[in-house]
Amino acid sequence: MTATIAVQSAARNDGGLIPNVSEGPALLAGITQGPGLVSHRDRLGPAPRPRAEALVEMARDVDLRGRGGAGFPFAIKLAAAARRRAVVVVNASEGEPASHKDATLMTCAPHVVLDGAAAVAHALGTREVHIVVPSELPSLRLIVEKALRERAKAGERLKVELHDAQPWFVAGQAQAVLQLLAGRENLPVTAWKPEAVSGHRGRPTLLSNAETFAHLGHLARVGSAGYAAHGTAAEPGTTLLTLRGDGWDPEVREVAFGTPLADVLSNAEMGQPLLLGGYHGTWLRSSQLSGLAVSRKDIAAAGASIGAGVLLPLADGWCPLVRTAALVDYLAGQSAGRCGPCRNGLPAMAEALRDLVHRGGPAGRVEELCGLVTRRGACAHPDGTARLVASMLTRFPDEVDSHALGICRGNRREVFA
Ligand code: SF4
Repeated sequence: MTATIAVQSAARNDGGLIPNVSEGPALLAGITQGPGLVSHRDRLGPAPRPRAEALVEMARDVDLRGRGGAGFPFAIKLAAAARRRAVVVVNASEGEPASHKDATLMTCAPHVVLDGAAAVAHALGTREVHIVVPSELPSLRLIVEKALRERAKAGERLKVELHDAQPWFVAGQAQAVLQLLAGRENLPVTAWKPEAVSGHRGRPTLLSNAETFAHLGHLARVGSAGYAAHGTAAEPGTTLLTLRGDGWDPEVREVAFGTPLADVLSNAEMGQPLLLGGYHGTWLRSSQLSGLAVSRKDIAAAGASIGAGVLLPLADGWCPLVRTAALVDYLAGQSAGRCGPCRNGLPAMAEALRDLVHRGGPAGRVEELCGLVTRRGACAHPDGTARLVASMLTRFPDEVDSHALGICRGNRREVFA
């Protein structure tokens, strides 16, 4: 039996969405006891202090992947950063407006994340830790500051610096975060080397999102076998999901890999198309959902990706084309406008999509623009937007044909994004 609480977070005070969050099996275990260090230590004991080789080996054993969206194997990053004295960067600014998992985790269980950051810093032989918080949630910063004071009082000797990320979609991208740390505009730039090799001030930089650090702390504490107590043999562990993150009744849940999607979504939601992975995600038709599990492999086989764990079931009465056009309008306005595909391609795509959806324009132009912007930007923003649009064209060919005849089966027009 799990307890569900409303997050007493920054979001409540800052006027943002307030997700519900349930106790989970690992990272979110015990959250109803409060976020303080004393209850955290009573429950879990001291922060783990693994050596770098041991942490790399454990991360490899359980195939720990980053939870920011790309799903990169964490052991590779960690091993690369361990070669020279590195910098640790915890990114709790999600950028994606539909994702609330990192803010929820930092609010309900800040010490679970900070234990992970401390374990990685110890393993890498550094005391330098940077934490990036979303500027639109100022009270989240206060929660983190309080947690850091508790740890300093308890004897932790890390040198931690907080940074406020800008409230735009691409601000959480790795290179944009490094720009922020360097005191420059919080926007992506072209990277010539991975940040784990050359990042902040040219030093190897272990940069990942808050959830990934929480998993590392948990893994360092319980070991590979303990971590594998949840999930499947092929995909051990748990993951955080944000359900309906930009719509009604948003919720953050921690589920074990292998959990059927039918246990996560309601019956009504299982009967609707699902946008999986957030605004840069992939549409799935409702007929693809039954039998699907929360599993990177299953979801990849269905032609999608779990991304940062955002699940957006299409609300009743909505047309997926209208919804996609609204999202692309938003995404086209969120680029840095520095690269051609963002400066010219995404606005053209948004216009072509509006033309298709609202005026029966040609789908061919939309498809052509998806090809033209892909792999041409300094970051993945154009690719992610093209992926969303391409999945709309692939999954909803009947709706595309209907729109060409001026027929839309949806009856809702509100714009979420
Ligand atoms: S691709 Fe777009 S968002 Fe990314 S760096 Fe270039 S202009 Fe900025």
